Amino acid sequence: MNFEFTEEQLMIKQAAGDYARRELIKDVIERDTNAIFPTQHVKNLAELGFFGMMVDPKYGGGGMDTISYVLALEEISKIDSSLAVIMSVHNSLACYGIEKYGNEAQKEKYLPDLASGNKIGAFLLSEPEAGSDATMQRTTAEDKGDHYLVNGTKNWITSADSASVYLVLAQSNSEKKHHGINALILDKNTPGISLGPHEDKMGMRSSDTHSVMFTDVKVPKENRIGEDGFGFKFAMKLLEGGRIGIASQAMGIAAGALDLSINYSKERKAFGTEISNHQAIAFKMSDMAVKIENARNLCLKAAWLKDNGKSYSLAGAMAKQYAADIAMEVTTEAVQIHGGYGYVKEYHVERLFREAKLTQIYEGTSEIQKIVISRTILKD
Ligand SMILES: Cc1cc2nc3c(=O)[nH]c(=O)nc-3n(C[C@H](O)[C@H](O)[C@H](O)COP(=O)(O)OP(=O)(O)OC[C@H]3O[C@@H](n4cnc5c(N)ncnc54)[C@H](O)[C@@H]3O)c2cc1C
Repeated sequence: MNFEFTEEQLMIKQAAGDYARRELIKDVIERDTNAIFPTQHVKNLAELGFFGMMVDPKYGGGGMDTISYVLALEEISKIDSSLAVIMSVHNSLACYGIEKYGNEAQKEKYLPDLASGNKIGAFLLSEPEAGSDATMQRTTAEDKGDHYLVNGTKNWITSADSASVYLVLAQSNSEKKHHGINALILDKNTPGISLGPHEDKMGMRSSDTHSVMFTDVKVPKENRIGEDGFGFKFAMKLLEGGRIGIASQAMGIAAGALDLSINYSKERKAFGTEISNHQAIAFKMSDMAVKIENARNLCLKAAWLKDNGKSYSLAGAMAKQYAADIAMEVTTEAVQIHGGYGYVKEYHVERLFREAKLTQIYEGTSEIQKIVISRTILKD
């Protein structure tokens, strides 16, 4: 086994970390407070190659591996996990979905703009009545010969407003149940698409989240990904990889909370000494460090499996469930270590605490990950 990173992987981690510490930190509290989308930061990170990280260079991407992606997401999430989720949905769902499952014409049409960050991608699976049970798609894509007519509502869509390219799941043949679902690529400015209001979220407030309504939206047949009825399998396959991104985000949030706690505990004094000298506080940070290291190793293992063409479904689910759950535990302790200062915005840990919660919910809740894990280990 080789636990060493390559020089390239370390350079990518360094570049992401430098940008986060130098630029993202400056306005992260303001963007969180006022729910401002990080337009300029997306542009800057796209110029640095973080919006087409794993896309083949022949489509304008960086051709990086999934390990580099995990390292970059950790660094960004330590400071600004709203940006990390924009990156994660864009890279692991939109870019990967088109590159892995799209045909050549779709790749040539969509990937260069996505890989350069000129266009942002979104993934539209969830609906008012289809969350964990994504088979319950009510959005329809009626087959009209040379095109589909899409009607319905999607919920909770990350980057719904800022994205230009939508990957939409919709039911074309309800008799076939989930085998009747199709995956379609839509340009957001297609007539008949409208957005609900910006969701006023607990955390990740500078990513934009809306419901999306489709009224008689005409989508050419050539925009379907894969064979007729491939949509559900497509969505599940994408989420297997997406989970590595969200797991890395959760792990990064936890790592950011530990960094802040270490610094604070060495400065803050109580009973005549720095609080880091109180064993109760030092042991909290010891526990936090072990959990983060375990989460990091799970993320990197899932990434390694993906990079080496091996099955990563189980490892990705383990990484996501564990990293999200420990992110909640670690950020709770980080607030505690900061005492009263942990409860106000200026010290950042209250934001990390709010952000950690979402990682247990989206791209499959912690309960759903346990279903995936238990079904796999109980098989045969
Ligand atoms: C900010 C935000 C951004 C999001 N971004 C996107 C996006 O870009 N694209 C997209 O398609 N979706 C997105 N989602 C949707 C997200 O993936 C869903 O919220 C998530 O899958 C859970 O679905 P739900 O909210 O309907 O909860 P439900 O499925 O109703 O679950 C409610 C509770 O029941 C539990 N539960 C459900 N079924 C079981 C079971 N069988 N066994 C045990 N427990 C169970 C769940 O774990 C949960 O605790 C986003 C959500 C949020 C909040």
